[in-house]
Amino acid sequence: MEAKILDGNRVAEAMRAEMKAEIARLKKGHDLVPGLAVVLVGDNPASVSYVKGKRKACAEVGIHSIEHKFDANLPEGDLLGLIDRLSADPKVHGILVQLPLPRQIDEQKVLLAIHPDKDIDGFHPVNVGKMVIGEEGYLPCTPHGIQQILLRSGVQVEGRHVVVVGRSNIVGKPIANILLQKKPGANATVTICHTGTKDMAYFTRQADILIVAAGRPNTVTADMVREGVVVVDVGVNRIPDASKKSGFRLVGDVDFEGVKQKAGAITPVPGGVGPMTITMLLHNTVQSAKRHHGIER
Ligand code: NAP
Repeated sequence: MEAKILDGNRVAEAMRAEMKAEIARLKKGHDLVPGLAVVLVGDNPASVSYVKGKRKACAEVGIHSIEHKFDANLPEGDLLGLIDRLSADPKVHGILVQLPLPRQIDEQKVLLAIHPDKDIDGFHPVNVGKMVIGEEGYLPCTPHGIQQILLRSGVQVEGRHVVVVGRSNIVGKPIANILLQKKPGANATVTICHTGTKDMAYFTRQADILIVAAGRPNTVTADMVREGVVVVDVGVNRIPDASKKSGFRLVGDVDFEGVKQKAGAITPVPGGVGPMTITMLLHNTVQSAKRHHGIER
């Protein structure tokens, strides 16, 4: 039997509809509009397009987004000054600095300058630390989105063996940490594979849930998984395709056609994890607005 498709667009739409209603309640009951400041330095086409997507998503749910755009030659000090002002601005609940930054700016310095209470990307070491020890902070958007897809698709995580391929700071390590917590929607046994892993298939074949974030097409093929596995494909890779107007198409890190014949469920690319990332950014911004105003629910 073919795998059930775990539809990230459907989950993202449901979450955004809930958020829209919640934001309307916050406005009516507390005169509170969640605010997100987005900082873009330079004109990297991918970054420009991401910022546009974030603006649109904010508008759809009712978050006030404020964009700060600068030339690529912006001095580091000017950016740090802006971040200080945004950190102190009560109308701003989330600060997002679009990466990558131009060479004259130290990315790490910038991420450290964002107040941890407004770090809705969850990249500040304070929030990373809170995630690891299981305290409430801001979870990074892509891994948090993966957990939500699993939860909202009815995939049981507790007590299962989750195998993660990839150990980046934005996907692999955080998703492993999130699913390891002794909490509902987590409490899994977690194994992490990377390029230093010998005989990766030995581990991937043991997975009940296999999460792949390697950044390379066909990292996982059908012979590497067992029947009924739940597969989350985080990869986004452009491969040449002459039949497309753009000249390319997007594929994940998993051989989708082969693996879906064996898996119990699988996320597609596009339309799986992708739509969840911005959704969780919106979620964190709303949570931040509520925390800053002492609103529990
Ligand atoms: P990354 O920083 O390049 O990390 C890739 C990780 O995979 C590394 O830990 C690497 O191991 C490991 N790896 C690579 N090839 C491997 C192989 N053949 N066998 C075992 N491990 C292997 O990538 P990332 O930022 O985590 O992103 C991963 C993918 O997810 C990319 O395609 C990216 O575009 C996509 N992504 C999607 C979203 C979304 O919203 N959908 C968000 C973020 C990322 P080493 O550490 O040993 O080098």
